[in-house]
Amino acid sequence: MKVCVVTLFEGLVSAVTEHGVLSRAVERGLVSVDTVDPRAFATDVHRTVDDRPYGGGPGMVMRVEPLRTAIAHARRRVGGETPKTIYLGAAGKPLTHEIAARLACEPALVLVSGRYEGVDQRLLDAEVDEELSIGDYVLSGGELAAMVLIDAVVRLLPGALGNAESAVSDSFVDGLLDWPHYTRPEAVDFGDGEAVAVPEVLLGGNHAVIERWRRQQALGRTWERRPELLEGLMLSDEDRQLLSEYQAAKA
Ligand code: SAM
Repeated sequence: MKVCVVTLFEGLVSAVTEHGVLSRAVERGLVSVDTVDPRAFATDVHRTVDDRPYGGGPGMVMRVEPLRTAIAHARRRVGGETPKTIYLGAAGKPLTHEIAARLACEPALVLVSGRYEGVDQRLLDAEVDEELSIGDYVLSGGELAAMVLIDAVVRLLPGALGNAESAVSDSFVDGLLDWPHYTRPEAVDFGDGEAVAVPEVLLGGNHAVIERWRRQQALGRTWERRPELLEGLMLSDEDRQLLSEYQAAKA
């Protein structure tokens, strides 16, 4: 996959591939992440990319030009006929696992990061295929949102994760939240003299029982924390049984 981010802050975005899973994905040739700065295409002496909003009010708006030229440049960089072009914006559709999985099938992506009050709507209407938000809050710029999207998508590319990091049980993959995880030591004292132990079921070595417990925890935590996620799922009879046991234990 080739990704090119249109941004006024290239150094910020390039950091996304410097560590961990993403740096290995780059080394393995699974993804390349490039940047284009619209300022490089500004024609005036001050390299202006923004202007005052029509209708008045505070802040500045990113102009159609040079952003349009920068997007065209980014498209050529990632190759392909019509790479999907995404604007990161608070008013966009919320980014989800399903969207990340769909985007992981694209050979190329152009991501447009806004700054100031945002981008001239005419550019978005003409050049952008999709607008995505990373949450119901406002960031100072689209760069962190672009980096979040890149991370969420790249970890789903075949070969990006090693076995130890396998995404199979991750939250949202099968519609549920992940179950809780534990590692050594077996008991931890947080200073109040009480040892907090690992759930006993995980120490018994019975894989069928462990799988059942984990599934029950995933169902129960989803019910407690994100009940709306359960509404879209077809639970098996066994899942229903596990969930009602969990609910009964909490009552
Ligand atoms: N006036 C805009 C609004 O209220 O939606 C906010 C502009 S914000 C200060 C500057 C840029 O940050 C936006 O153009 C957009 O690219 C990015 N941005 C802000 N919040 C975002 C979010 N939740 N998800 C994705 N991008 C966001």
